[in-house]
Amino acid sequence: MKLGNYITGNWMEGDGDGQPLYNAVNSEIIATATTKGLDFASILDYGRKKGNPALRKMTFHERGRMLKALALHLLKHKEKFYVLSYKTGATRADSWVDIEGGIGNLFSNASLRRKLPDEIFALDGDNIGLSKGGTFAAQHILLPKEGVAVHINAFNFPVWGMLEKIAVNLLAGVPAIVKPATITSYLTEAVVREIIDSKILPEGALQLICGNAGDILDHVTSQDVVTFTGSASTGLQLKANQNILQQNVPFNLEADSLNCIVLGDDVTPSMPEWDIFIKEIQKEMTSKAGQKCTAIRRIFVPENKMEDVWNAIGKSLSQTIIGNPQNEKVRMGALAGKQQREEVKGQIQKLLASSQIIYGSMDSVELIDADANKGAFISPLLLMNEKPFISEEPHNVEAFGPVSTIMPYKNMDEAIALAKKGKGSLCSSVVTSNKQFAKNYIMGAGTFHGRILVLNSEDAKESTGHGSPLPMLIHGGPGRAGGGEEMGGLRGIKHYMQRVAVQGSPTMLTAITNVYQPNGNGHTKTIHPFKKYFEELEIGDQLITKKRKITAEDIDKFADLSGDHFYAHIKKTDFTDTMFEQQVAHGYFIMSAAAGLFVDSFEKNPVLLNYGIDELRFTKPVYAGQEIYVRLTCKEKIAQELKEINPDVPFKKGSDIPKGIVKWYVEILDESEEPVIGVATILTMVKRKN
Ligand code: NAP
Repeated sequence: MKLGNYITGNWMEGDGDGQPLYNAVNSEIIATATTKGLDFASILDYGRKKGNPALRKMTFHERGRMLKALALHLLKHKEKFYVLSYKTGATRADSWVDIEGGIGNLFSNASLRRKLPDEIFALDGDNIGLSKGGTFAAQHILLPKEGVAVHINAFNFPVWGMLEKIAVNLLAGVPAIVKPATITSYLTEAVVREIIDSKILPEGALQLICGNAGDILDHVTSQDVVTFTGSASTGLQLKANQNILQQNVPFNLEADSLNCIVLGDDVTPSMPEWDIFIKEIQKEMTSKAGQKCTAIRRIFVPENKMEDVWNAIGKSLSQTIIGNPQNEKVRMGALAGKQQREEVKGQIQKLLASSQIIYGSMDSVELIDADANKGAFISPLLLMNEKPFISEEPHNVEAFGPVSTIMPYKNMDEAIALAKKGKGSLCSSVVTSNKQFAKNYIMGAGTFHGRILVLNSEDAKESTGHGSPLPMLIHGGPGRAGGGEEMGGLRGIKHYMQRVAVQGSPTMLTAITNVYQPNGNGHTKTIHPFKKYFEELEIGDQLITKKRKITAEDIDKFADLSGDHFYAHIKKTDFTDTMFEQQVAHGYFIMSAAAGLFVDSFEKNPVLLNYGIDELRFTKPVYAGQEIYVRLTCKEKIAQELKEINPDVPFKKGSDIPKGIVKWYVEILDESEEPVIGVATILTMVKRKN
């Protein structure tokens, strides 16, 4: 069977026989893959002209709901992906990370829509005042790029590798062309077939090429984004492409890294942290047969505990059952192919120039339910290097399999220096119950790592582990790890959006961004904004309240009612050496009094409830006798989706009410108007009319 390429709206086969793809467990041929004869320039063009406009006219909320629908759809079909995944050598647990972990990324990005506006663009940061008179200001906004995301992926996670990336560019409003590593592309192809058949994505939002990437990088432009995940050597070659350099095409590089774990000098064999450390190493070496970019390659241990540690790791590895991943007893399957095994062995040979094997064998492995001659199996290998400051290999050579090297350190300075010898890693772990040890390690080694996990008995049970990149945290690392960053929640979408600093008058910026900007004109000739339904409210609707005099009696009463008898609110306080001249009103009282001024009537109105305060600042003291009033402006409207039944709402149970969140800009003023006494952004939940 020849794999399909989904391009320019059709499934197309490339010319010729194609590259044969083998089952990692028994070497049977699964499919062939080829992209020969494809016109890569037109594939890019199709994404830009068909997929991009379709996505960019959708709002973040629409795109988020689309991702959620896709995630639910793929979950329904997951079992057929598991069947194929076994052929890559992965166990059920390995495949879970790939398949359901990938789908989890879709869900996670779908949920991010709630942190974004129901608009086709997003605001980045707050309004920035640029003039004394308040007539000139700026606001950064983010617009989806007008090109495509080209994702060139590694072979080890054929599903997750695609989904973790497309979840982000699709939410941002940019289409993707996915090029999985060829040897496991049959699994990616099966998932893409399901995505295309579902018709959940607009046409052109996703294209797939299985096989050689041809001259695609010669045709990318500055509105496109290229992401690469794979070996540092391929990454460097691609990043140096003349067209990419000339056109300043954003290029995100995620390469291999020599990730490390450090055993704290406080940890002894009788402590729970000891077992946590051994288990983490065993897990990282054997899950996905060590073919993880984040796997632990270097193990740093206090020099007096080396032997105890390697014996414990060896014992733990000896209990790992290796073989046919479809057998339920098996905990470690095969490498992705025999060629990968040859590459791993070649790298181990390089490591052996300065290290020795203390557990495992290069030539034999005990298997259940599988034939060592047919499948790409290898034994886990623990190496030991006693001179890590003299030897360069353990810090430079990545064997992309179940291979790790244990090395001694004398003190914190050495542990940090050794961690840094990896020249930049995706992640590191430190196992300790000593807070100072953890802090010193992070302060010392942090700049060389994208992520650091501190493990001890407090978090081990619920920890997601050393090797798990998470959609809400950045994934990537400096230096050797590629210098790239992906995922990271909202940070991720910014890679696919252009940031524009828009300058103008606050009123103009309000009209452009649909978010009220301080000093912008308000519309006061309207009914009380709390009487308006969600759809009726306009950004800039404004209420100027009547005035209220704050009295000493008010302040005394509020002190008694709230129990807040802070000395500044007490009349008889001697105010020498304080910030105040006399009894000052509580800030919270001023805010409450402000609410008393802007909240309307006893009658029911479309405001369902007060949802909270985003920000609140008191900038001027209010003394007894002073008058205050409020300028309340409709700042932002956030539509909410209707939930059929909402059992979790801690109010009235039952059906949801159609509604949205409205943010109000509250300025509390006195006669002088400037500066304001207090500024707040308050939130209300407002009913929809329909
Ligand atoms: P690789 O050989 O570097 O290949 C990575 C991708 O680049 C594949 O899709 C490959 O396609 C493609 N490629 C190779 N040459 C190309 C060219 N001239 N033009 C365009 N594309 C080209 O890496 P791999 O063997 O698949 O993956 C293993 C490595 O990836 C390990 O070193 C591992 O550490 C690293 N990795 C890093 C991360 C991370 O997030 N940092 C994640 C996973 C893996 P073909 O398959 O068609 O050659």
